[in-house]
Formats: sequence, structure tokens, C-alpha cells
Amino acid sequence: MSKGILVVVSGFSGAGKGTVMKELLKRYENYALSVSVTTRKPRPGEEDGREYFFRTREEFEKLIREDALIEYARYVENYYGTPRSYVEEKLSEGKDVILEIEIQGAMKVKQKIPEALLVFVTPPSVEELKKRLEGRGTETPEVIASRMSRAGEEAEGMDAYDYLVVNDDLDECVERMHRIIMSEHFRMERNTAFVQKIKEESRAFIHSES
Ligand code: ADP
Ligand code: 5GP
Repeated sequence: MSKGILVVVSGFSGAGKGTVMKELLKRYENYALSVSVTTRKPRPGEEDGREYFFRTREEFEKLIREDALIEYARYVENYYGTPRSYVEEKLSEGKDVILEIEIQGAMKVKQKIPEALLVFVTPPSVEELKKRLEGRGTETPEVIASRMSRAGEEAEGMDAYDYLVVNDDLDECVERMHRIIMSEHFRMERNTAFVQKIKEESRAFIHSES
């Protein structure tokens, strides 16, 4: 079985990444969503082990020391990191594994794992972003302000991503994301074993004909 694709999805807080990912997983079976570890407090409705593994700062630092995280970053006062074991296991099972992480983490993954596919999700405008963040109603005005200012910084790094997905209509956004990931499976460099096999077969054929 071929290995799955590691997909890194980033985008401004409030862009709709979580909503898009949830829908993608509901519609298709080839995906596994990595659950990150964070020191941030759970929002109402969030469960430990589902949205995040909620840990203390000390517990988080222990994971760093044990090299149990593929990457980690600080984002608006808290730490967030990707547990290594789940990602490796699911990729080897052939699943396409999605990391929904911010930009510093995404750049670290790209450095360590160059074959990772990087997708940036954005709302159609900054005004719409503010509306969505406020509409979600999960953060105080101060936190919304820091997240908006962080969005400004993140926009500067968008060009480093492989694909851009505008989350205007949710349904279209989900389908676009799925098609991008599916196409990635057919890249020549992801199919080197097959390419090699066909080359060998054709060489053998030419040889047998001569
Ligand atoms: P993120 O995970 O990127 O921080 P969320 O998935 O929490 O963002 O979405 C932020 C808010 O925007 C939520 O209230 C969500 O319901 C809303 N939202 C997500 N996608 C769309 C969309 N395509 N159109 C309108 N609202 C959306
Ligand atoms: P939130 O607090 O809204 O759930 O997440 C804040 C930001 O942290 C989002 O941009 C989210 O994508 C990012 N994030 C979540 N998990 C990880 C992770 O494991 N590593 C990194 N680098 N960022 C993460």
C-alpha cells in the first residue's frame, strides 16, 4: 500500500479551517485529522482528545524534551504542537493526514518533510474574517484583536504555500480541498516505484523483441 500524503492546512484564525476539515472528514474516508496538544484552555463544547489534548505548560515541555512532537509553536500566549506517533501511524496505513496548524509550524514541517502539501485557507476578505471571528463568539474582544493582528503577520507568509483555497461557499471549499489532495496522489515524484516498474518492464520487452 502506498503511503498517505501529509497535508498541512493553515489560515487565519476564523477563516473556517475547523469547519472545512470537519466536513471533509464527514464526506470522505481517506483522511485522518491529527489532534494537536495545546496549553490553551478548552472553549465551551471542546473535549480533551477530540479538538485538542489540553495539557499544562509543564506537560507540554516534557513532550518537547521527549521529541514526541513533529513541530510546535507559540501562538498568542499559548503553545500548540503536533504529536508524532499518530501522524506516522496513519501515513503508513495509507491515510492522508491533515495537520491544521499555524504558519510557523507549517514552515517547520516543510523543512523536515519536503514532500508535505501546504494549503492556505482564507476568507474572501479581511472584513469577512472579522465578522466570522466575532460571530463565532468564543473569544473576548482583546483576543480577537490579537488574532486579527496575527492574521496580518500570517498574510505575509502565504506565498510559501503550494495552494490557496478561498472559503467563500463552504461546500465548494470542501470539494476544492478534496480535489487538490486527490490530484497530489498522481504527481510523478509520488509514484516512483510504479514508474520504475514500468521502465523495467518496457526495457525487458524491448530486449526480448530484439
Ligand atoms: P478556524 O478553525 O479557521 O479558526 P472556524 O471553523 O471556527 O475557523 O470558523 C469560524 C467561524 O466562521 C465559525 O463561526 C464558522 O461557523 C464560520 N464559517 C466557517 N466557514 C464559513 C463559510 N464558508 N461561510 C460563512 N461562515 C463560515
Ligand atoms: P485555536 O486556538 O483557534 O484552536 O488555534 C490557534 C492556532 O493554532 C490556529 O491557527 C491553529 O491552526 C494553530 N494550531 C493548532 N494546532 C497546532 C499545532 O499542533 N501546531 C501549530 N504550530 N499550530 C497549531
